[in-house]
Amino acid sequence: MPEPIRFEDMSTGNRATVLQAVRDMGPISRADLARLTGFSATSVSRIVEELKGQDLVVEAPGNLESGPGRPPTLLSLNDRGWFAVAVNVFPDRVHGGLTDLGGRVLADETLWVTDPAPEAVLALVGRVVEQLRRDAPNPERVVGIGLAVPGVVDARRGEIRYSPPIGWRAVDVPSVLARYTSLPVVLDNWVSARARAERWFGGATGVDEFVYIHASRGIGASVVRSGGIPPRQTFVSTEFGHVVVNPEGPRCRCGRRGCLEAYASADALPRYAGQPDRRPEEILAAARAGDPDARQAVAETLGYLALGIVSLIHMLNPNRMYVDGWPLTDGIDGLAFLRRAVDERVLEGMKEQVSLEPTRLTEWGPLIGGVALVLDAVLSRGEAHVKPVEVRGA
Ligand SMILES: [Zn+2]
Repeated sequence: MPEPIRFEDMSTGNRATVLQAVRDMGPISRADLARLTGFSATSVSRIVEELKGQDLVVEAPGNLESGPGRPPTLLSLNDRGWFAVAVNVFPDRVHGGLTDLGGRVLADETLWVTDPAPEAVLALVGRVVEQLRRDAPNPERVVGIGLAVPGVVDARRGEIRYSPPIGWRAVDVPSVLARYTSLPVVLDNWVSARARAERWFGGATGVDEFVYIHASRGIGASVVRSGGIPPRQTFVSTEFGHVVVNPEGPRCRCGRRGCLEAYASADALPRYAGQPDRRPEEILAAARAGDPDARQAVAETLGYLALGIVSLIHMLNPNRMYVDGWPLTDGIDGLAFLRRAVDERVLEGMKEQVSLEPTRLTEWGPLIGGVALVLDAVLSRGEAHVKPVEVRGA
């Protein structure tokens, strides 16, 4: 039986650094790990033995074609050694998934919300968690819960401060959830959770700093920064969607007027199409089919989103941005539109530096955001990160 994993085990220093390097760059040899982390060969070997003892790392023979002599043993993260439960809270439902540490969803479960009060919804979360935990190949091996919620979150304290979509204020999640499950919970805003998923499982693997933008019924952005020695990543949730574009504009979900979200979220599409009773998906389908009103609505909505993105670039000067959500809908060329806008509107000297990329997360993106939360907590209390460098061939 391996040593149990505790969140705090990984929080101090070197083991988290080594484990994250194995995750980012594996399969990787001990020699490359030492080069990458700056630790001595002896330290790396000792830490690797500990991680193997916890079933977090596995080894396999290297590639025989890599050169003359005996190939080095290569280390990888043991994706299947441990499991996590990821839960997303939506206004109308609670969606949970059992995943391995590689972000593969093994089972999922949805419960519908009938009473929106926090205690009632968190009771549903507890039920989903316990159900999925029982489904795990080995329930003892479920490390924790990653809970992604919309709104303003104090991730360190586990508190939801205010969530307009679900209407909660000042909810101390861990103490309520403790009534229903003994598993530890890590909480974050759901856009930041997705940014973590992009970092772990999507296009941003090994990318230090980026901005992740999600446009659906709401608009959110998470800013990922890195600094220190060894570099540590921080995920900053913003309320980008509630930047005010026009104080006399249409009413936003937050109750204020003229937020970017009221102009550039999917919910704005029916209004611009002059068909406020239709659903955003219907407008997108009509645009794809060539309907001129729908196409015009898509262009207007994308135009506002582009203005928001251009402002973000001017404020943050990022190198890489990932876009997720309705602009990636097939047949509307949303990303090309946004890239053109960046090219036309961002200042020379800045626009050449930034690339706008589509998310590489699948439809499971929202769920595996929760796994990424658990991983970040297990590995590093959410902040440690190894600066990726070119790894020379073994
Ligand atoms: Zn708003």
